[in-house]
Amino acid sequence: MTERSLDALIEALRRLPGVGVKSAQRMAFHLLQHDREGARRLAVALQAASEGIRHCERCHTFTEAAVCSTCLDGSRDARQLLVVETPADQAALERTGSYRGLYFVLMGRLRPLDGIGIADIGIQALLERAADGVVQEVILATGFTAEGEATAHVLAQALKAQGLSVTRLARGVPAGSELEYVDLSTLAHALSDRH
Ligand code: ZN
Repeated sequence: MTERSLDALIEALRRLPGVGVKSAQRMAFHLLQHDREGARRLAVALQAASEGIRHCERCHTFTEAAVCSTCLDGSRDARQLLVVETPADQAALERTGSYRGLYFVLMGRLRPLDGIGIADIGIQALLERAADGVVQEVILATGFTAEGEATAHVLAQALKAQGLSVTRLARGVPAGSELEYVDLSTLAHALSDRH
């Protein structure tokens, strides 16, 4: 099969994480055979999101406005700033319903083996954000993977050097875990038992 637009579709789908050539083919064939309307909606949604979504100026999460709705929510406790790796981790913590402070999303973590260092994870932006005079506690909620722990360690040192109070999610979360995959009650306990 050497249909150019089909090949292009399969190549595009392969850019998704965890999708190999067979999965990409299966998705493409499914859309074309069974769900043309779904294919059109996917195309429109992808275009709108890739052109309209940017990063919040204050917390760096995904938003369509300059500042996201969470940062603008006056009912949230601006004295607490919770640091996560990704918007998916932020969404997981929001689902627990037990956190009412604000967030800072690193959009990554230290990955020394891939050359991702301190400067790449926006540490300077975090230090500036945390030094607004309102934040009293920075809660480090990076994952409990080796890289997440290393990131938490580096951030804790930098934040403490600025005189900020720093806490870390409690160890109820299994080692090696990405936060977004941890069940909600475990996550809520890790938050309330932070130290
Ligand atoms: Zn924000």
